[in-house]
Amino acid sequence: MKLECNICGQEHDDPYGHNAEPINDGRCCAVCNFDIVLPTRIRLMFADKGSKVAEMIVKQVKQRKLEE
Ligand SMILES: [Zn+2]
Repeated sequence: MKLECNICGQEHDDPYGHNAEPINDGRCCAVCNFDIVLPTRIRLMFADKGSKVAEMIVKQVKQRKLEE
């Protein structure tokens, strides 16, 4: 059974998917994981947790994804 990525909406063969946090609380494909989730996590490591900057980073990444 194929899973649907919670970020790009594409079906993928990954049996479990990847944790899509902090983009959303679902599972995503490997492409989104390496392309979006991991870089976002790294950016968030340099921002204070729960700060406005952290919120902005997540918001911008989500917006960019919707525009594509
Ligand atoms: Zn994806």
